[in-house]
Amino acid sequence: MNDCLFCQIIEEKIPAERIYEDEHVVAFSDINPQAPLHVLVVPRHHIPTLNDLGPDNESLVGHMHVVAAQIAAERGVAQAGYRTLLNCNAQAGQTVFHLHLHLLGGRELGWPPG
Ligand code: 5GP
Ligand code: ZN
Repeated sequence: MNDCLFCQIIEEKIPAERIYEDEHVVAFSDINPQAPLHVLVVPRHHIPTLNDLGPDNESLVGHMHVVAAQIAAERGVAQAGYRTLLNCNAQAGQTVFHLHLHLLGGRELGWPPG
């Protein structure tokens, strides 16, 4: 989608610090990091929210988590611990309507989240 921020990052029309990419996903650093490690794992295909997923997307969502775990290991936070999360729609704080998994690590993470 032309007007989607993350589609434009995926298409390299907008710069981002790319961490990882393959045929299914691109991972890049969050521009406003909430932890020492804050990476977004984003499907190449434009899917607005978790509500828009169907059975065909099951392997994609699994893959997003596998990629996040791999980045956590590479960045040295796997043993200490880290968090993955997806915000869905306004009340959860979703601001970019292209599905993305947050990977947060490198500090103590409070629970419950705000
Ligand atoms: P959401 O609130 O939708 O779950 O997360 C959107 C995330 O995208 C936020 O953490 C925000 O900081 C990040 N973000 C917004 N604009 C940009 C951008 O232009 N580049 C990058 N790398 N991250 C962005
Ligand atoms: Zn998009």
